[in-house]
Amino acid sequence: MSATIIDGNAIGKQVRAELRAEVADMRSRGIVPGLTVVLVGEDPASQVYVRMKGKAADELGMKSDTLRLPADTTEADLLALVDRLNADRAVHGILIQLPLPKHINSQKVLFRMSPDKDVDGFHPVSVGRLVIGDRTGFRPCTPAGVQELILRSGVDPRGQHLVVVGRSLIVGRPVANIFLQDAPGANATVTVCHTKTRDLTAITRQGDILVVAAGRPEVVTGDQIKPGAVVIDVGVNRVEDKTTEKGYRLVGDVKFSEAVEVASLITPVPGGVGPMTIALLMKNTVQAARQLSA
Ligand code: NAP
Repeated sequence: MSATIIDGNAIGKQVRAELRAEVADMRSRGIVPGLTVVLVGEDPASQVYVRMKGKAADELGMKSDTLRLPADTTEADLLALVDRLNADRAVHGILIQLPLPKHINSQKVLFRMSPDKDVDGFHPVSVGRLVIGDRTGFRPCTPAGVQELILRSGVDPRGQHLVVVGRSLIVGRPVANIFLQDAPGANATVTVCHTKTRDLTAITRQGDILVVAAGRPEVVTGDQIKPGAVVIDVGVNRVEDKTTEKGYRLVGDVKFSEAVEVASLITPVPGGVGPMTIALLMKNTVQAARQLSA
């Protein structure tokens, strides 16, 4: 039997529609959620991401600013800019697009940001707030998007065994922390796997919900999935494909053609987790505006 496909584009659109209504309501009370994205240098992929973020904010009626700084911007100048943005009452969310040029200490810059404007959720205070279950903190956008996909597909993680493949600070660990919470939409029993995990298959096959964020193309195969599991594939990998116009195609970290025959619900790549990340960035910015204006 073939799994039902979780449509990330449709769910992302639903989230954005709800946010548009919330932004309209805030605007009627004189609050315009403001997101400032800082881009240092000319990395082509970063330029695309920054454009997408600005466009998404504009479409929701938010105020968006993109500050483009030259690649030779000094660390001191960038820190001074962060200080100014921290103090600017019209700026509710700050996003420093990574990677930064090598001469700048990214951690120093991220840590300088006010945790109350850290809409990417990577500041240690945001990490701490997530771990202790403080909902005023911002959750990293991709993991928060994974939770939205699961809940809006009608799956209640409560009491289920959720297995995460990957322990990165960006995806694996926050996914684990989100679903471990004693809160609605969570309460799963969580296991986190990584490259040193012994007998990975024995563990992934226990997952009622399997979230894969390994960063390796199609590394999780059908035989590693529990029949009837919910499979969320966070991976995005380019693999060579001479039959396509671009010479490559995108695949996830899960071998979709096999997994779709075993799972009950599964996200495709592209069109699964991907569209959720920007939607959740917008959600975090609206949350920041709400909290800073309270
Ligand atoms: P990462 O920093 O490279 O981390 C990968 C994690 O997977 C590591 O913890 C690694 O273990 C583990 N791992 C790798 N191969 C494994 C294997 N064979 N068995 C078990 N564990 C394995 O990657 P990431 O930043 O978390 O990203 C993961 C994927 O998600 C990437 O494909 C990335 O492109 C994608 N992603 C997508 C979005 C989106 O918006 N859709 C956003 C962010 C990331 P060790 O710790 O032991 O090395």
